[in-house]
Amino acid sequence: MAIDFSVEPEFQEKLDWMDAFVTNEIEPIDLYFQGTVNPFDRSNETANALIRPLQEKVKEQGLWACHVGPHLGGAGYGQVKLALMNEILGRVLWAQIVFGCQAPDSGNAEILAHYGNDEQKEMYLQPLLDGEISSTYAMTEPQGGSDPNYFTCRAHRDGDEWVINGEKWFASNFKYSKFTIAMVITNPDVPVYRGSSMMLVPSDTPGIEVVADVGLGTEPIEGGDHAYLRFNDVRIPAENLLGEEGAGFKIAQTRLGGGRVHHAMRSVGVAQQALDMMCERVLSRETKGSLIADKQSIQHWVADSWIQVQQFRLQVLHCAWMIDKEGDYSKVRHYIAGVKVATPKVLVDVVYRAIHAHGSLGVSNHTPLTAMWQYAPIMGVVDGPTEVHKNTVAKQVLKTYKPSDGLFPAAHLPTRIDTARAYIESRLEHEIGNL
Ligand SMILES: Cc1cc2nc3c(=O)[nH]c(=O)nc-3n(C[C@H](O)[C@H](O)[C@H](O)COP(=O)(O)OP(=O)(O)OC[C@H]3O[C@@H](n4cnc5c(N)ncnc54)[C@H](O)[C@@H]3O)c2cc1C
Repeated sequence: MAIDFSVEPEFQEKLDWMDAFVTNEIEPIDLYFQGTVNPFDRSNETANALIRPLQEKVKEQGLWACHVGPHLGGAGYGQVKLALMNEILGRVLWAQIVFGCQAPDSGNAEILAHYGNDEQKEMYLQPLLDGEISSTYAMTEPQGGSDPNYFTCRAHRDGDEWVINGEKWFASNFKYSKFTIAMVITNPDVPVYRGSSMMLVPSDTPGIEVVADVGLGTEPIEGGDHAYLRFNDVRIPAENLLGEEGAGFKIAQTRLGGGRVHHAMRSVGVAQQALDMMCERVLSRETKGSLIADKQSIQHWVADSWIQVQQFRLQVLHCAWMIDKEGDYSKVRHYIAGVKVATPKVLVDVVYRAIHAHGSLGVSNHTPLTAMWQYAPIMGVVDGPTEVHKNTVAKQVLKTYKPSDGLFPAAHLPTRIDTARAYIESRLEHEIGNL
């Protein structure tokens, strides 16, 4: 089947509009706040005053919350279009909030849309889709992230309520959130893949203790945005179980599929920006009598970076196209995992070269490069580490092969030569016999 990533001219016009809008209207907000305000903090009146009119413009263009289906007000775009949009959004911190597609709210909205009752949808889903509230997703635990078999945070049924006890780790944006979707063990006697469930927990429910607000990298030790939570006899109504009891893991998998592709395409935008910066810099500065761009080692870096960004961009678009074609995440799991594995590697290589080519300016706080650098290892662990995704790729790829029939592999030359000889000799006998 022909692979085609092209979009119709009307959608290309939308992308061009987005490109200019992100540069002219949203980038100044990034530069104005310089990381001092978290985009998820809906209580900041200055930020609200700045972003609300921009969100209205996005809605007028029909580009608001495009990841959700038309029944929830989304445009119903496929993954290729969403990927092309995310490539533009990746350059700027505030862009996702302005376009209503920020994680983890995007995935949480999908869960509520599928499994929430009418009251929950009205109370949480609609305000989330309208950009009025933020949410948290709590799955990781302090003693186990990559392997859910180590999860111990439990919920047991008590009359009309679930009672939750245990800890969650790196629950992003909890302090700004109205509600949390927590994956908890409801049946410890079966494997976690069948014994965990999704719960809707209002974030102000009594008994939720914030052990620490963990930050990233060089942020101050206190006041970070990723909560270490302890649930002490936290009681929620029975109907706050989302989906079936025991379906938590399955729901978690569905939630992350499209999101991983969007993360990857935003990383394409970041890597391209680093490459653009490197090219501009090496064309602007001389050393030892010539431009830095004239040095062969730098030319190789430019070439290597351009090739890596091209390869990665095509890989992500192909994965998005596969999702659109198959219409089912489970059938393209290894394509999604492959993209997830490639993401930090491309960022490490391309961003490092851009930093180095800028010299001291590159490691300073006067360019966005060190922030991009921090993004690379984050992309390696968030939503599961590289090794786990490599396992997924390998398992799915190996499913398409079978063991060799005999003692030697199918490509064993002496065996193949014997087979070929017998075939050619029989043909020759036939051809010569017919002369
Ligand atoms: C910025 C950020 C935001 C996040 N937000 C959230 C959130 O909102 N909600 C949430 O629930 N979680 C969140 N997380 C947590 C994230 O999902 C976990 O970090 C991730 O699943 C890995 O778990 P861990 O950190 O416990 O690493 P560990 O499980 O301790 O793994 C550490 C390392 O061990 C190695 N390793 C692990 N498994 C294997 C294996 N099978 N084979 C070989 N090597 C292996 C890898 O090198 C891995 O990096 C966030 C993380 C980050 C960085």
